[in-house]
Amino acid sequence: MNPVYNFSAGPSTLPKSVLKKAEVELSNYKGSGMSVMELSHRSKLFMDIIQDAEKTLRELMNIPDNYTVLFLQGGASTQFAMVPMNLMIKNKKADYVITGTWSQKAYEEAKKYGTPRVIANSHGADLSHIPKVTRDMIDPEADYVHITTNNTIEGTCFYELPDTGDIPIVADMSSNILSELIDVTDYGLIYAGAQKNIGPAGMTVVIVRDDLIGHAPENVPTMLDYQVHKKAHSIYNTPPTFAIYMAKLVFDWLKDDVGGLEKMAELNEQKANLLYDAIDHSILFEATIKDRDRSWMNVPFISKTGDEALEKKFLKEASERGLVTLKGHRSTGGMRASIYNAMPLEGVQALVDFIKEFDQNNQ
Ligand SMILES: *Cc1c(COP(=O)(O)O)cnc(C)c1O
Repeated sequence: MNPVYNFSAGPSTLPKSVLKKAEVELSNYKGSGMSVMELSHRSKLFMDIIQDAEKTLRELMNIPDNYTVLFLQGGASTQFAMVPMNLMIKNKKADYVITGTWSQKAYEEAKKYGTPRVIANSHGADLSHIPKVTRDMIDPEADYVHITTNNTIEGTCFYELPDTGDIPIVADMSSNILSELIDVTDYGLIYAGAQKNIGPAGMTVVIVRDDLIGHAPENVPTMLDYQVHKKAHSIYNTPPTFAIYMAKLVFDWLKDDVGGLEKMAELNEQKANLLYDAIDHSILFEATIKDRDRSWMNVPFISKTGDEALEKKFLKEASERGLVTLKGHRSTGGMRASIYNAMPLEGVQALVDFIKEFDQNNQ
């Protein structure tokens, strides 16, 4: 049987070696006679897992000591509310850059807690570009500026951060966290649902500068107050233990097998270039994002003539060869190849070979 390569946008493919390790340890973790799923979250075995996960994540991303790392639940979508509840406090204002479906949702949610403002918008008008954000566009009274660093559905990515001066940037990094080495100090808060580049669904990573938390009003629910989770080191209540364990294995893989985030970025760039190049040379297909804002993680492409039957045929034949979950988002149609960290170069090569062959057979 051919290997299966899963191009799903999320939940998405995990490193094979990580799955193997989890399989070996599944029913008897470190000689305990129990699975990680069965361990008390306050046991020494689990405390070691969560502490190691945080330690390795800090090493990988170079997270400074004045930033807190939290492992929470509720997905990135809960952060759409938790961010304004905790940070839109001083002036009750925040500036949002809308670059796609997810940032639009983040903005809509923030409206419930204050007065967010859209300062640049590529959604609806021109989804294929990241708008330029300059200092003069930003309200000096904004409590933060929110961006979505990688637009999972649209396939665009910020390569240049807005200059916001002293105003903290809050970034939804769900679909490109850990894809390259960034400077964490450029951000006030980073959040990411795990199911794209970190591990299985069920866990959300939040990295937040300490001075930004501890200001939530009394009526903010306990579970939605960052300070509560900071004090409890992410075990205020039962955390998603198995998801945290899997994330730890992925962090170990990034550090030990890949060799860190600079190496990961080289590989990601290589994979993305290989795929975009094949699509750009295709007779039948074209990428929806044409320029420098192209994401390394999510690559949407369509038939040049809008031929839906041809797209269907492509998806069917691809899936017969083990190239699966290539269907585009329900809002965009066409195809989308998500090539996160865990997608091996061989998977991208197999897709590239198939695009070329399909071109030949169908022109
Ligand atoms: C997937 C995704 C979300 C939604 O994540 P959930 O964990 O399902 O809430 C939000 N933002 C971005 C950029 C995403 O890719």
